[in-house]
Amino acid sequence: VDQLNRNVRGLKPSATLQINEDSNRLIQQGRDIIKLGLGQSPFPVPEVVVSALRLHAHEKDYLPVKGLYSLRETVARYYQRRDGIPRQAEDVLVGPGSKELIFNLQMACEGDLLIPAPSWVSYAPQAQLLGRKVFHLPTKPENHWRLQADELDAFCRQEPERTRILILNYPSNPTGCSYDADSLKALAEVARQYGIIVVADEIYAETTFAGNHQSMSVYYPEGTVISSGLSKWCGAGGWRLGVMLLPDTLRPLQDAMAIIASETFTSISAPTQYAACTAFSESAALDAYLVATRAVLKRISSYMVKRLRAVGLEMEEPVGGFYLLTSFAALRSKLEQKGIFSSKQLCEKLLEETGVALLPGSDFGLDDSQLYTRMAFVDFDGDRALNAINDSSLSE
Ligand code: PLP
Repeated sequence: VDQLNRNVRGLKPSATLQINEDSNRLIQQGRDIIKLGLGQSPFPVPEVVVSALRLHAHEKDYLPVKGLYSLRETVARYYQRRDGIPRQAEDVLVGPGSKELIFNLQMACEGDLLIPAPSWVSYAPQAQLLGRKVFHLPTKPENHWRLQADELDAFCRQEPERTRILILNYPSNPTGCSYDADSLKALAEVARQYGIIVVADEIYAETTFAGNHQSMSVYYPEGTVISSGLSKWCGAGGWRLGVMLLPDTLRPLQDAMAIIASETFTSISAPTQYAACTAFSESAALDAYLVATRAVLKRISSYMVKRLRAVGLEMEEPVGGFYLLTSFAALRSKLEQKGIFSSKQLCEKLLEETGVALLPGSDFGLDDSQLYTRMAFVDFDGDRALNAINDSSLSE
């Protein structure tokens, strides 16, 4: 079609959603597929949150564009408690998934987009849709895939005056690695020096196995936007509820995002917003759910790392989330004999010959020749795993 928007040309459907469709198609054809492609929470939504949704099923009105005020208050309290910095309802935006909110922010905000490589599949295509320049800043496994402050500084120093957005996702999809206080402090200093808006994509924060997540917003409160939602820690990806916290220094940006929301999605499902109030409220039931889900993820992650390392694959040990970024480099010569020279070919062959669905590292901004794959270790029965972990008193 001649009229196709130039920014859309060349874009493919999101890799994670595509692998899910491909896997389902093969399953329908009778193949036995191990679905380690799509990063979907394996756990059920906590019962208290489901009950809250049922209770509010009759709510039918449009809600305010920025979100239900009581939800915004609850989310602000949640983050104030978690990070120990002052928050108010006015800092919070609610949207149909954090993916849409991140896109919305990219639409509302000027500047180059900086993303560490590897990182999540959708940041760069979103920027491309908007005609925004993207820069991939390479990170190294020996640094736990953390962007180093001196690397950020060296990049920004080339053109100190440019306006920039940096998206940092931790715990990370695809690496499972995260940032500690010292690395965040060092990055905060550089971000402050160059006036960079940092989007802290903390959608996996509550899955941090040791429960010791640290937030960039503590060290750079005036320039950090927190992005999260119910999809990962609350098992509710299909409910499509995302939240974003912007400091009052960025209120004009938040207002612009609200205008975009008012002209696009309007507001999100009312019953879901009421249920989200329960999800973000402090409760013993939710604490127990989080303790148990983290214990399950930690045990599966440790098991996978041990088994994969035993066959010669290399990876950093995840500290949260449900992903492993695995290097097949040690098997390179064997793979080359089989005609496999890239991470894409490797994933195609694995799916074809073994029924294991993985994503190639190249989907996350790594060089295709590097033979990395991302595995989402979520193809298990989350209900059963939670029951087993609760019964076995192994949840500490
Ligand atoms: N950010 C990261 C790093 C993700 O992995 C995902 C989902 O896979 C999202 C954001 C989007 O989550 P949602 O739109 O469901 O809130």
